[in-house]
Amino acid sequence: MDVKELYRLFIQHGLVDTDTRKIRNNSIFFALKGDNFNGNKFASDALAKGAKYAVVDEIEYKTNDNVILVDNVLKALQNLANYHRNQLNIPIISLTGSNGKTTTKELINAVLSCRFRTTATKGNLNNHIGVPLTLLSMNSDTEIGIVEMGANHQKEIAFLSKIVEPNYGYITNFGSAHLEGFGSIEGVIKGKSELYDFIRDSKGKVFLNSDDPIQIEKTKGIDVIRFEESIKFIDANPFVNLIFNDEKIHSKLIGSYNYANISAAITIGSYFKVSEKEIKKAIENYIPSNNRSEIIETENNKIILDAYNANPTSMKAALDSFILYKSNHKTIVLGDMFELGDYSGVEHQKIVDYVSKAKFSNVLLVGNNFFETKTNHLKFKTLEELKEYLTKKPIKDSTILIKGSRGITLEKILPFC
Ligand code: ATP
Ligand code: MG
Repeated sequence: MDVKELYRLFIQHGLVDTDTRKIRNNSIFFALKGDNFNGNKFASDALAKGAKYAVVDEIEYKTNDNVILVDNVLKALQNLANYHRNQLNIPIISLTGSNGKTTTKELINAVLSCRFRTTATKGNLNNHIGVPLTLLSMNSDTEIGIVEMGANHQKEIAFLSKIVEPNYGYITNFGSAHLEGFGSIEGVIKGKSELYDFIRDSKGKVFLNSDDPIQIEKTKGIDVIRFEESIKFIDANPFVNLIFNDEKIHSKLIGSYNYANISAAITIGSYFKVSEKEIKKAIENYIPSNNRSEIIETENNKIILDAYNANPTSMKAALDSFILYKSNHKTIVLGDMFELGDYSGVEHQKIVDYVSKAKFSNVLLVGNNFFETKTNHLKFKTLEELKEYLTKKPIKDSTILIKGSRGITLEKILPFC
């Protein structure tokens, strides 16, 4: 079946599903394949649960007229998404970058939704499946789309850009994340800049934080919209406060690095003519979730929980912010940073050396990579060993920064703090 026909079916009900546990009535089920599953096998189940059509790519599963056979289900989903995007005559803003994509996307959405009906990426659905699903969640009501695009290797952002065809782009930053797939920081810059390349070729616009010389270099030849000049940082103790057009904005976001994320949302909001009052209100009301920089008061301590993810850049950003934080006793609990490939040893050592200079009251390191570093700080191979230590030697009256990669699940030590 070609994309136009598939689109005709899609437009009748406007729903696409990929998980048979969450089938919505009259949706089109796309039988995707994963490393450990073959969605084709669930096609009839999807129809039984209320899907109107099931799209498969293995002929043996084409059991009735409501099963649609295509060459490749993933490709069909991506082509449908791109076709749909072209029928929607709306501006779409795409974001990528090493850190802060989801936070910035949510802030932009909060600001723009004051004036427009927006559709934005849900959670972190930012890959070759999540991006098409985001586009397919837009409909004739949508006035502006906001799409997060993630990547851990070259050509991924170029590929996603071709599906999304964004009119506007924003790259949060180029950092040392996913070095394994990108090979080096130069690789990261090249890979993320594929969004700029698309925007340059399609004559779109990008939002630019002109603090970064590399960003300035990479956006040459593109129509840029620079960050609002009247935005000024006040402090982050722990919540970021800033001034925009002489008006104070008190955010509920922790960490000085969020200043850039908020500034992007203000700039984009202003560009789309959201009023200053609405921008202020939207930013002040936005509360982050999912272990992305939350403040938690336990019986004994105050905790800055940033256990959602970590890479060298976000780790350093979190440490810099914590160095500025005013408290008599500061503890840091750092977990391993993953996906660094050959850079792992040296990047963990750099963080440990940085920490030593900063003179925190108490430092606890956990994970095989930190365990291998040369340092006098306390190190633990596993979370279990750290928990045992905290049971014997509880921390009291301290402000504790907890940060590590998702796989370390550092939030599990919360009951021991
Ligand atoms: P992912 O790659 O998982 O999609 P992301 O780019 O969407 O991540 P967020 O989920 O917004 O990023 O934030 C993850 C963490 O990155 C935050 O908890 C924070 O520690 C750090 N971070 C957020 N914004 C920045 C920034 N502008 N600069 C450096 N680090 C940041
Ligand atoms: Mg994200």
